Amino acid sequence: MKNDDRYSRQIRFTPIGAKGQLRIGGARVAVIGAGALGSVSAELLVRAGVGFLRIIDRDFVELSNLQRQSLYDEEDVRNNLPKAVAAAAKLRRINSTIHVESIVDDVNPDTVEDYIKDVDLVLDALDNFETRFVINDACAKHTRPWIYASAVGSYGLVMPIIPGKSPCLRCMIGSLPAPGSSPTCDTEGVIGPITHIIASIQVAEALKWITGNGEAKKLELITLDVWTHRFHRVALGTEAMKTCPVCAEGRFDYLDGSALRTVTLCGRNAVQVIPGVRSDMDFSQLSDSIGTSGIVQYNEFLLRCSSPPFELTVFKDGRAIVKGTEDPGVARSVYTKIVGT
Ligand SMILES: [Zn+2]
Repeated sequence: MKNDDRYSRQIRFTPIGAKGQLRIGGARVAVIGAGALGSVSAELLVRAGVGFLRIIDRDFVELSNLQRQSLYDEEDVRNNLPKAVAAAAKLRRINSTIHVESIVDDVNPDTVEDYIKDVDLVLDALDNFETRFVINDACAKHTRPWIYASAVGSYGLVMPIIPGKSPCLRCMIGSLPAPGSSPTCDTEGVIGPITHIIASIQVAEALKWITGNGEAKKLELITLDVWTHRFHRVALGTEAMKTCPVCAEGRFDYLDGSALRTVTLCGRNAVQVIPGVRSDMDFSQLSDSIGTSGIVQYNEFLLRCSSPPFELTVFKDGRAIVKGTEDPGVARSVYTKIVGT
């Protein structure tokens, strides 16, 4: 198969041309997350001829993914395949000339730097803010451009981030939203059209950047609601960078703090869980998000959730005590299940 043929329509598109195609062929891109956004982003990049693609995800393909995660099918669910493995197999069938690396792993402060430091561009295809803040720190530390993207319900947004040149996630959002306070696809649902559109915009931004058509000062935050036809473009001013802990001070709080620390409280059959980043807990929202997974009581100081054989006490700053175990791993999973990561 001649590659000239394969990419002929893309090469005819003037802003890319033969020169741009060469740059695409030499580009190394990491897609973090192989869900709805990652499925589409990875497929479009591989079809466009990006030279090296790393796709990272720790989850397995489930039936509820198939409604929107277009790289997977029922056979992947039956075979209990990790998403990264199933995705890589499909991507290699789509374009065998691309070096596709699949990684089944959790992206966290301990692992993220290995996955981003040898690529030219990072695409966020995640479903949670905590990992995005970790990526924000890691990409700033290694000056790797990355493209933030998210979609929930019928709404989504895309924001390219060029460390040192355009505002980062912390410039825009400040600090991590309290667990349970931001909508997720688990609570609000999500429809396939928005994840496909958002991932497509993300890849268009990626192609611009790779082919030398990107300019940091022209970057925008794009938001789109496919149900109501609302579309917004927000110019990214650099004012917030002057006071941002990442951009101005070079502080990487989310990278340096481990995701969750644990301390076994000897003789009390309990473990204390300490999140890497303290947040101001909204107990009313957390109580709603716990739903039927436990019996919840709370006041202004703490929230107590009984989920036999465990009892979890959460404090305002996100710390918690898990009673009913002395095993840090068990305590961590009880905490993650009830409070979030
Ligand atoms: Zn910043």
